[in-house]
Amino acid sequence: MLGAVIHAPGDVRVEERDTPKIIHPTDAVIRTVAACVCGSDLWDYRGINPVTAPTPMGHEYVGVVEEVGDQVTLIKPGQFVIGSFFASDNTCEICRAGYQSSCVHREYVGAGGAQAERLRVPLADGTLVATPEPPTEDLIPSLLAASDVLGTGWFGAVAAEAGPGRTVAVVGDGAVGLLAVLAARQLGAERIIAMSRHEDRQKLAVEFGATDIVTERGDEGVAKVKELTGGLGAHSVVEAVGTQESMMQAIRSTRPGGHVGYVGVAHGVQLPGEELFYSHVHLHGGPAPVRRFLPQLIDLILSRTIDPGKVFDLTLPLDQAADAYKAMDERRAIKALLRP
Ligand SMILES: [Zn+2]
Repeated sequence: MLGAVIHAPGDVRVEERDTPKIIHPTDAVIRTVAACVCGSDLWDYRGINPVTAPTPMGHEYVGVVEEVGDQVTLIKPGQFVIGSFFASDNTCEICRAGYQSSCVHREYVGAGGAQAERLRVPLADGTLVATPEPPTEDLIPSLLAASDVLGTGWFGAVAAEAGPGRTVAVVGDGAVGLLAVLAARQLGAERIIAMSRHEDRQKLAVEFGATDIVTERGDEGVAKVKELTGGLGAHSVVEAVGTQESMMQAIRSTRPGGHVGYVGVAHGVQLPGEELFYSHVHLHGGPAPVRRFLPQLIDLILSRTIDPGKVFDLTLPLDQAADAYKAMDERRAIKALLRP
């Protein structure tokens, strides 16, 4: 089968790989219907994460189940399924508390490389959610978004306690940040401030429910958020980048007693203890437990209440994955969808 493999920074190739098989009786193998390139894949592409050996890429996927192991009882061949980047049993104490991405049996699904024609999904019964019937073609981008970016943006908004009567600010205008705007809107936030310098992304943020746009960054961005909130800062701030600057921008944009939901994968972030102590903000985040939200998000998509698939502004055949990475790296695309 064909799959995308990174060989070195800037060097993604689509090449022949071994077709995955059932290894454990709790596995499923799916035929990938759509996959995509994640902002976090760019950390590898840009050489910020070291690439030490050729590595299969991709951890966002929707597909049709081809085969299941002997112990899989809920998921059946032929079903259209959505899963997330961590496999989880969905039964342990941590899963039942809603933190499936820290499941005691978690496995990284992306290790198999979802930007490929087939994918092995461990713990299939706990990890995958099937749609009641095969979705129509136009819903596939939105269902794919639920696999990671939507679920991650949603968790960011939930962790930031977005809700009625609250002002939510979102730091980061990548697909996750934009979908955190959509989530905040769905959760009933009164005012949503999107922090973005890019016109196309501002436009999408407004479509998703942003009421204000702040183009300033760093301390100037913080000052602007305070200006918009009577000098207090936002109740809820979603951090969707993962750098020192974005994390501090998020913390400083939050009012005392407010909440930061941080979902950008942290790279070199160091928190100043004394400033944090006096800030009185709550911090909650981490790898999103997308599985917690999947049933609800799939319902919202199938009922056409939300259209998160709009974040995909480039669709390419799988064999052009290298171009998809390049377009995202050069910010010519917000997010690229790949069709095997
Ligand atoms: Zn678990």
